[in-house]
Amino acid sequence: MSKKIIVAGAGHGGLVAAAYLAEQGYEIRVFEKKEREELGYDWHDSMGRDTFELAGITEYDRDKLTPKRDPTFYAPSLKTPVSCDTGPEGKLLEIERSDLYDYLIAHAENKGVAMNYSAQVNGPLLDESGEVCGLVVDGREVTADLVIDSAGLSSPVMAGLPKKYGMNETYSENDIFHTYRAYYNLVEGINTPNMERFNIYFKFEKIKGIAWFKISEGMADFLVGSVKPLDLEKVGIVLNAMRKVQPALGEKLLRGGQIIDIPIRSTHSLLVGKRYAAVGDVISMPDPMCGSGITNAVKAGAMLAKAVIEIDEAGKPYTVEELWRYQVAYYKSVANGAIATAILKNRMLDYSDGALNFFFDKAIFTAKELGGGHRAMKMDKAEMIGKLKRGLRHPISLLKLKEAVDKSKEAQKAAMDIPEVYDEDAVGSWRKKLNSFVV
Ligand SMILES: Cc1cc2nc3c(=O)[nH]c(=O)nc-3n(C[C@H](O)[C@H](O)[C@H](O)COP(=O)(O)OP(=O)(O)OC[C@H]3O[C@@H](n4cnc5c(N)ncnc54)[C@H](O)[C@@H]3O)c2cc1C
Repeated sequence: MSKKIIVAGAGHGGLVAAAYLAEQGYEIRVFEKKEREELGYDWHDSMGRDTFELAGITEYDRDKLTPKRDPTFYAPSLKTPVSCDTGPEGKLLEIERSDLYDYLIAHAENKGVAMNYSAQVNGPLLDESGEVCGLVVDGREVTADLVIDSAGLSSPVMAGLPKKYGMNETYSENDIFHTYRAYYNLVEGINTPNMERFNIYFKFEKIKGIAWFKISEGMADFLVGSVKPLDLEKVGIVLNAMRKVQPALGEKLLRGGQIIDIPIRSTHSLLVGKRYAAVGDVISMPDPMCGSGITNAVKAGAMLAKAVIEIDEAGKPYTVEELWRYQVAYYKSVANGAIATAILKNRMLDYSDGALNFFFDKAIFTAKELGGGHRAMKMDKAEMIGKLKRGLRHPISLLKLKEAVDKSKEAQKAAMDIPEVYDEDAVGSWRKKLNSFVV
């Protein structure tokens, strides 16, 4: 008898897992609260070059993918921009979110996944032992052998899990990015600085976060993301300030224009429970500084499907002990880097404008560090001495950076030391250690 697997939310990782499993003969249903045509956002997103291949999609129109512009970073003073060149092979690709959804859904349906739209998941369905045995959808009980939670940051499934699953994790102020993104008209005939680049501004207009300006498809692509609550009035102030810096940013709103939350904490320390596995934003899979939420969710969806198939080949049940192999695979390949980045992100967010300006001006932050993320944040003795000589005016800020770099390496190592086999005590200690770095 084929196993019944149900997916809460048509998130990217859930759709990918669904397609791989349906291909193997599993009976898969996805419950999505929106209508089909409402899925995704009204803008382009970046993703890794191999995202379609990871999703198992081999045929697609390559003309729908364009290389992402190379970044130029700015400190609050805007004085010393730092430009990075990623080279042709290193560039991420941009795609319309609606095109991406077209591919993911057509692929899932071709493999036999049953999509249910306008289907509001209310929460998990629990059996008499208080364990997950399905979902409540529009008030109806839908039983299943396994539930995949792909319902994003505010998943009602995660929120409704019994305490004994131990999966709800805390978010601090620095862990959610309240983000406004929109396309505006480009003011014609105006020269705007670095218009061929992806311009990223740290702490622009006193925002604890970033703002960006780039040109996409002949429109001005603007984003502001803040860890402090954001409203349209504040967005208007930042937009006007950006228009002074980038005069080609017009006034006419063409696309987007909503405020949406993105999780930017390190990946949760538990991704699975009995008959339950989570994928994507619900367990904070975006990289805390570089994004990649789509590619990471796709990777995780493929890993989860592989784990489920292996469990069935071995004739085992969907317990936390068995599903754990999915978490081990994800931590060893992706989440170990996310915890390192989360520590550096917290450090960056807490720097004063003065310290950030100084780091840019004195080449403490160069293209290597800003473009390379946590992997490039090396601080050996010689490098530290060089930076200290240049950074005499801000020794405390520099020492704090060194502390964060060291801590991020330690945390990454701890993440890699994930127990290969699930043992309650060993996993408990591992989780405690991991969370001690970021919570
Ligand atoms: C402004 C902005 C820009 C971004 N840019 C990028 C980028 O360039 N590159 C990148 O990789 N990532 C980007 N992201 C992040 C990216 O959107 C997510 O990381 C990615 O979508 C993976 O999330 P997900 O699929 O798990 O969840 P989501 O995309 O949130 O999907 C969850 C799905 O579940 C559905 N759902 C929710 N609740 C219920 C319910 N109760 N019942 C039924 N269905 C439900 C939702 O309708 C939705 O369809 C950006 C995000 C924002 C907000």
